[in-house]
Amino acid sequence: MTDPRELLAEYLKQRLAMGEGAVVLPDIPLHRPPSPGGGEAGEGHRPPSPPPRRATSPAAARARATWQRGAPPIPPVGLVIPSPEKDLFTADPLTSMSLTQLADAVRACTKCVLCRERTNAVPGEGPADARLVVVGEGPGATEDETGRPFVGRAGKLLDEILAAIELPRERVYICNVVKCRPPQNRKPAQDEMDACVPYLYRQLDLIRPKVILAMGNTAAETLLNTKQSLGSLRERVHQFRGMPLIVTYHPAALLRNPHWKKPTWDDVRIARQLIDP
Ligand code: URA
Ligand code: SF4
Repeated sequence: MTDPRELLAEYLKQRLAMGEGAVVLPDIPLHRPPSPGGGEAGEGHRPPSPPPRRATSPAAARARATWQRGAPPIPPVGLVIPSPEKDLFTADPLTSMSLTQLADAVRACTKCVLCRERTNAVPGEGPADARLVVVGEGPGATEDETGRPFVGRAGKLLDEILAAIELPRERVYICNVVKCRPPQNRKPAQDEMDACVPYLYRQLDLIRPKVILAMGNTAAETLLNTKQSLGSLRERVHQFRGMPLIVTYHPAALLRNPHWKKPTWDDVRIARQLIDP
């Protein structure tokens, strides 16, 4: 999409989806200057064809930088979770696996009861060199049917959030604390999370993104090893094994409570600034 009008329409949709009532328009020129040849096509001669449009036209570049406007400053350091000491005597098989091998191990996994009712395990997806990793709680019905993370209603909202900070979903690694769907979408039990979380740790250690975005209580509590409320974990840059970690609301919670959209928009813009300052 390079047409400034389409970009503007998309931008406005995203800002509204983020819960902003009044949208201040950036100065995007919507009319191209008249072509040097003067007349319109059909008036006798064709105007010289315009230069091919580049994906990075000045208007597009300006429209794209809009997430930065009014973005909150980077907050102070929060909790610090260090990497575990290397244990030379017990070999953990996960530490030798690639992302692909890990996904195969997840699909074959029977380490907890959640394997019994799954249709598909949902290992996670995205590029191995992603600069952002999003961590949710666990697969829902659509994820269980497809084997892909965040593809239901909450996933659509996540896609919009990512597009608004100019990190399209395809450039983000998306995964969950537990890889199999808890029946009736109940919160995963502690023993289920304990069984599954080594996969998540290995994914993060392999990708080593510039930022981890923990969405919702389950992801935040698990990665930061705390019972502190999500509200109190926001507005801090935590460190997980040397990687900055930002906590925000879960997209499913935003669907229930639109008041959280504005704080989420602030949180993701903080995360975005940590990617390219
Ligand atoms: N909610 C999550 O936490 N993860 C998904 O993959 C989908 C919905
Ligand atoms: Fe294995 Fe995790 Fe699925 Fe449990 S939830 S069966 S630990 S992959």
